Amino acid sequence: MSTARYFLVTAVQQDAWILGCPVEIVKGALLFDSLSRQTILQLKLRNVGSSTINQVSVAITSFDGAGKAISDYGKLQSFTFGDLHTNPRDLFGDRTAIPLGDSSVKAVKVVFSSAIYANGYEWHNDEKLEGQPYNLYPIHHMLVADLVEQYNREYTKHHIGSSSVGTEEVNAHDLYPISTSDYWCCTCGFPNPIYVMDCRRCGTSKEWLFKTIDREFLLRAQSEYLELMQLKAQEEAAQTRKLKDQEEHSKNRQQALRSKLVVIACFLGVLAIAGVVIAKAIILPQRQYDNAIALQADGKQREAAVAFLALGHYKDSFDHYLAYSANSISAGLSHSVGLHNNGTVIATGDNSAGQCNIQSWTDVVSISAGALHTVGLRRDGTVLAVGSNEAGKWDV
Ligand SMILES: [Zn+2]
Repeated sequence: MSTARYFLVTAVQQDAWILGCPVEIVKGALLFDSLSRQTILQLKLRNVGSSTINQVSVAITSFDGAGKAISDYGKLQSFTFGDLHTNPRDLFGDRTAIPLGDSSVKAVKVVFSSAIYANGYEWHNDEKLEGQPYNLYPIHHMLVADLVEQYNREYTKHHIGSSSVGTEEVNAHDLYPISTSDYWCCTCGFPNPIYVMDCRRCGTSKEWLFKTIDREFLLRAQSEYLELMQLKAQEEAAQTRKLKDQEEHSKNRQQALRSKLVVIACFLGVLAIAGVVIAKAIILPQRQYDNAIALQADGKQREAAVAFLALGHYKDSFDHYLAYSANSISAGLSHSVGLHNNGTVIATGDNSAGQCNIQSWTDVVSISAGALHTVGLRRDGTVLAVGSNEAGKWDV
């Protein structure tokens, strides 16, 4: 049961004005009444006359979907709103339904034909004028948005609390006022005859309007405003640049510091490696050497010799070792061998197993005699052996 009774066919709005006409269309709609199968017109009108109006007549032309005037109903119907008693700037008419015919009506043209004032004065559109559009110049075409906003604030401040303005559905004052020899257009867009002192639509004083909204003044204010904005933008840009420079500087410093740290780390690394090398090549052998000398001084000849041998050719370590091992002798079951300083070996005693055949030995650093055999260690690490090889004693 919620089916809508009325369907909007089209909106009706006024786009042309007859200068001095005391009525205007605020809003209008062409509706189809699904119950009565009628197309009806609804108009919300405003009294833009100088005093109370009692009666308004309109001429209505209806059109079909193809844009052709409908002759049956349309031939120029007229309609009269009576018994109005509507005061200046008041709205009226929207409770009245004007029946236009069947569903074939798709558009309308409404022209005001007459109005009768309460005081008996009458206005008639004798020449059947259809009005003309007033080419109004929006202030935002001339001013930047910020100034338009400021202008609207000024406008509101000027009119606040004023009972003459604030009429319903007049709130935009965004048009540049125009004055000619015949009329002046208010900032609300309404064309007033030149003799009218307060806008018939919104009540704005013509004097105030043209004093306040002076083109030169607005343009000057605008250029000052734009200059200010430019300065501000430049300052902001400079500030941004400064911050960016600081950031860059700090970044560069950090990078420099990082590179320095890398150099220091590398240097320390080299130092550490050098330290290890020095310790291995110089300090450690020196310590071992000192240790060997100390052992020698303590009379621990064997331990000293072992330490010197471990040092290899470090300083005179090998000589020390040789000095210890020289003249070293070793005795077998019935033979003895002796090691010379020069690395040759002598042997004496039982040679039944050849255990004394050491005459060809050279570069020997150590000898040892077994029961029936003799072994010698050469400087190059090879081992010599003579004598009995039962049990593989010298399979070296
Ligand atoms: Zn106005």
